[in-house]
Amino acid sequence: MEKFCDSPWNHMNINNLGRIKPCCVYSKPKEDPGEVDIFKWYKHAYKDLKAEGINHPGCVACKKMEDSNIVSRRQYTNKPGKGNQIVYLDISFGNTCNLKCMMCESRNSTKWIADEKYLVENGFEHLERGIVKQYNMPESRIKQIVNYCNNFEGEEFHLEVKGGEPFVTDQFLNFLTRLNDNFLKRCNLYVFSNGTGIEAKYFEQLKKFKRISCNLSIEAVGPLYKYIRGGADHSHEDAIEFMKEFSKNCPNSKIGVSVTITMYNLFKLKELKAEIDKFINYNLPEKVFSSFSYYPKYLSPGILPQTVKDELIAYYHEPYWQPVRNYLKNTESDPYMMRIFKQFTTLLDRKRNTSLYAYEPKFKEILDAV
Ligand code: SF4
Repeated sequence: MEKFCDSPWNHMNINNLGRIKPCCVYSKPKEDPGEVDIFKWYKHAYKDLKAEGINHPGCVACKKMEDSNIVSRRQYTNKPGKGNQIVYLDISFGNTCNLKCMMCESRNSTKWIADEKYLVENGFEHLERGIVKQYNMPESRIKQIVNYCNNFEGEEFHLEVKGGEPFVTDQFLNFLTRLNDNFLKRCNLYVFSNGTGIEAKYFEQLKKFKRISCNLSIEAVGPLYKYIRGGADHSHEDAIEFMKEFSKNCPNSKIGVSVTITMYNLFKLKELKAEIDKFINYNLPEKVFSSFSYYPKYLSPGILPQTVKDELIAYYHEPYWQPVRNYLKNTESDPYMMRIFKQFTTLLDRKRNTSLYAYEPKFKEILDAV
C-alpha cells in the first residue's frame, strides 16, 4: 500500500482544545506550541509523520478504514502537488454548543459538561477523554490565522469549520468578519452545523466565499433525532428548514449532510437516507454513510453481538450500503464494551429523564442479554 499522506504537508487541523494536527482523525497530536507562529512551527512539527505516512501510529483511524475497504480521510482529502504550504485549514474555534448529542462529549459541546460530571459522580469510570471546560480559541491565534488567510497568495484555499456549533461560536463569527474580499473569493468554505440557526447579518460575508458547502450534522429523524440530540426542542424538520434558508440566502452554497454512525442510529439508517433524499437534489454518495464512531469505543456499533451484526448485514443488503456491511464484517464484537455501553446509556437516560428503549426497542432484548 502507498503510505504517503499529504495532510502533514499542506493541511492543518486545529481542534477544540487548540491542539494542532495534520487532520481531525489523527490521534497523536504534538504539545500545544503556545505563543509561536503556528504556520512556521507546523512546517517542522510532524517530520515523523511525513516519513511514516499512514503507517504512523497516529493514523490508526485511516488505517482501519482502508483495511476494511472504506474510503479513508487520507483518500478523500488527497491534494497531490500542493507542496509544503498550507492550503487547507480545518478549524474548531471552541467547544461552545447549544445541543448535547448522545455521541458527543464536553470537548465538543459545553452542554455536555454537566452530564459528564453526573456520569462520573454516579460511578461511570470509562469517559475516554475526561471532562473539558469551555474553550475559546485565543485572540492571538485568531489573529495569526486571519493574517495567514488575508496574505495567502495561492489560487485556491479550503477552510473547514466545525464546532461546537460554529454559528453560535463568537470566535468563528468574529473571524469571519475579518477576512478580506481578496481571500474570500478564492476560498471554499466547508462548514458543519447542527442546523439550529444563524444570525442574518452574517449572510453578507458568507456570500463572498468562492463556494460554500454547508453540511448538516444529522443522525436520525423523528423522535430518535430528538433523543440523540439530547432532548432539545429542535426537530430534524427545523434543521432542514435552516438548510433551505441558508441555501436561499447564500446562492454560492451547496447543501450537504454529515452522518456519524453510532450504536443509536445504526438500525435506522434507511429511514434517515430516505429523509435526506427528499431535500438533497443530487445522489447522496456512499461515503456519507461511512463515518463510524470509533471513540468512545462503547458507542462504536462494531461491538454489537455477532448475531445482531449478521441481521444488520442482511438488512443492509443493497449495493449502496456496502461500507456499512464492510464495517460490520471487519469489526469485532465486544461483550465487555457492550456492558459499558449499557451503563453509559442507562445513566445518561436517567439524567435526561428519557429511555433509549422508547426510541429503539430492539435494544431491550440486546441489553437484557448483556
Ligand atoms: S493518514 Fe489519515 S490520520 Fe494520518 S494524517 Fe493522513 S488523513 Fe490524517
